[in-house]
Amino acid sequence: MINIIADKEIKKWKCIYKECGALCCEYPPLVTIGSIKRISDALGIKPEEFVHTSEDKPGLFRLKTRKKDGKCYFSNDDYSCKLHKIDKHPLVCRLLPFKFDGLVYGDEIILKLKAMQECPGYGKGDDFNDAVKEDIEKWASRFVKELTNYVQLKQKGLSFNEIYSKNWCEIE
Ligand code: SF4
Ligand code: SF4
Repeated sequence: MINIIADKEIKKWKCIYKECGALCCEYPPLVTIGSIKRISDALGIKPEEFVHTSEDKPGLFRLKTRKKDGKCYFSNDDYSCKLHKIDKHPLVCRLLPFKFDGLVYGDEIILKLKAMQECPGYGKGDDFNDAVKEDIEKWASRFVKELTNYVQLKQKGLSFNEIYSKNWCEIE
């Protein structure tokens, strides 16, 4: 069971990335193994071309997209996203305007989401209604599941390649 806590109530919202210069794409996002597989299969590129791995703190196994020209590897010069166009953008990028703000493990997993403070899209576009919220909850749950699976396998000592070569049931 996953509980989601967001720090902002939103009435209307639209991602107007050209106005903010794609602020959300300045920092490469976390990617799950599922997202990596979907991207790799769709674009025909190997994970090492676009994934940055770091294990800079014990037990913290981060997978992010690489940085290119000061922003996410998949950000275009016109601020659009190469992956959005083919519906393969990472799970965390489907949570906008919220950013991933951590997981708290207990009887239930709590996923913390933090709204982009500087986003110019609040009050614009369509209602941030139940359907939009349900969509975010769906991607958030999947993100937590894929991330947790990866961390558990890493903690068992498996390498990235060993985990990547597993037959992941969640992968399209
Ligand atoms: S994958 Fe796309 S939407 Fe996500 S940070 Fe990179 S460029 Fe932006
Ligand atoms: S969510 Fe907001 S801040 Fe992020 S890219 Fe879209 S408009 Fe910009």
